[in-house]
Amino acid sequence: MHPRMTELKARLRDTYDLDMTASLLQWDQTTYMPPGGAEARGRQLALLGRLAHESRTHADIGRWLEELREHERELPYDSDDAGLLRVTRRSFERATRVPLDLVSEFQHHASASYQAWTEARPAGDFARMVPMLERTLDLSRRWAQCFPGYESIADPLIDAQDFGMKASTVRTLFADLRAALVPLVRAIGDRPRHETSCLRQAVPEVAQQRFAVDVIRRFGYDFERGRLDRTHHPFMTKFSLGDVRITTKYRLDDVSFALFSTLHEAGHALYEQGIAAEYEGTPLAHGTSAGVHESQSRLWENLVGRSRGFWGFFYPRLQAEMPGFRDVPLDTFYRAINSVQPSLIRIEADEVTYNLHVMLRFDFELDLLEGRLAVRDLAEAWRARIRSDFGLEVPNDRDGALQDVHWFGANIGGVFQGYTLGNIMSAQLFEAAGRHHPGIPDEMGQGEFGQLRGWLRENVHRHGSKFTASEIIERATGGPLSIEPYMRYLWGKYGPLYGVREPEAASATR
Ligand code: ZN
Repeated sequence: MHPRMTELKARLRDTYDLDMTASLLQWDQTTYMPPGGAEARGRQLALLGRLAHESRTHADIGRWLEELREHERELPYDSDDAGLLRVTRRSFERATRVPLDLVSEFQHHASASYQAWTEARPAGDFARMVPMLERTLDLSRRWAQCFPGYESIADPLIDAQDFGMKASTVRTLFADLRAALVPLVRAIGDRPRHETSCLRQAVPEVAQQRFAVDVIRRFGYDFERGRLDRTHHPFMTKFSLGDVRITTKYRLDDVSFALFSTLHEAGHALYEQGIAAEYEGTPLAHGTSAGVHESQSRLWENLVGRSRGFWGFFYPRLQAEMPGFRDVPLDTFYRAINSVQPSLIRIEADEVTYNLHVMLRFDFELDLLEGRLAVRDLAEAWRARIRSDFGLEVPNDRDGALQDVHWFGANIGGVFQGYTLGNIMSAQLFEAAGRHHPGIPDEMGQGEFGQLRGWLRENVHRHGSKFTASEIIERATGGPLSIEPYMRYLWGKYGPLYGVREPEAASATR
């Protein structure tokens, strides 16, 4: 090994550990910390953030990366060291362009804005958030301006989450997807709604937890390297590859919430737990992009967890755990968890309409950043868009422009497209896995997931950040990112569920 590689790796491990320590404090903040800890915790996180930024941008790293250029050229593209150098170079170049002052200003503002939002949202008080959000927009623009040469000012923000993507590529992809989705949404809208009342029963927390844990253990989530805790907004986080945690929230009026959020976060966790152990402590030890990460959570939550085959095995177990379901036929339950209907809230939306919620947010991010929409007009624009997309009235901004934490706790730009990219990729990866292992559906019907998990681990998880999202998709599926498998999946599932058929012209192109 090149001697400089050893020094570089040691320095990168320090940065990694600073980041992981910050994650641990954040996890604690959103699970067990009493409210009195908030102020000191904010200070501690700001300190760690500053130290991590200094470590990431240290002049030694720049010098070593220069010295290693020749060495990098000699390495095969898919070797681990070549991957490490590519990812380190990208992260170093990105971090050094943003002045530390801007990083701290952003961090302080984001935490003040988040604090204000926790009060403004329940009160439906959008006006209170306008000055905050205006500053967020200004800071987001200033951050993006550190990367001149972009086509859209949103590009650097999108690139930071989904490397290699630009506003124009996402816009085109979303326009195609929207054109394909709308006929399905309309066809379903003309059919009778599914009965969902069976889900609204009070099931004790302990029963909900036992059942969800049984499922994710079978998925392969490793409790020796993880744990499940309670929080307000479920998430996954990690402190090392040996400690990948998930959180959920138990609702006593809807059993499906904790269940599917747990499957979702377990999907994120399987990705991180599946990263090659030798990447620990390096920049390769993370999922490669927001989109690929979301493809893993959506795959386990929806393509597996909401499928008929899966419930053939698990429904009797659910009935044993939750007696209220003993008189509910499997078919009724299956239709309830796959009910499609227009709704106001993104995180409660079904698989089909979910993407329309994401597109709305993506479009508004571009409109705000590119100056076509003023922050003070956002809430009204939101109401108008919900009216035209879903035919619904937003009764309160709490369930409109104030509903997602993203813009109120971080930047505007690049934070939403990953959800829909993930849906698209989830179907493409699942289809490719099925081509290699035709036995996957039978296994799922027996509560076994070894072939599916094994294929994902080999083709996606173990690589961590070594390959970009488009490289992962190409290598795993043999082709570029495409909406076709996703539309095949949606029509194949919801066609029979709602008794609707895909228009001939559209299916002919698939
Ligand atoms: Zn997710």
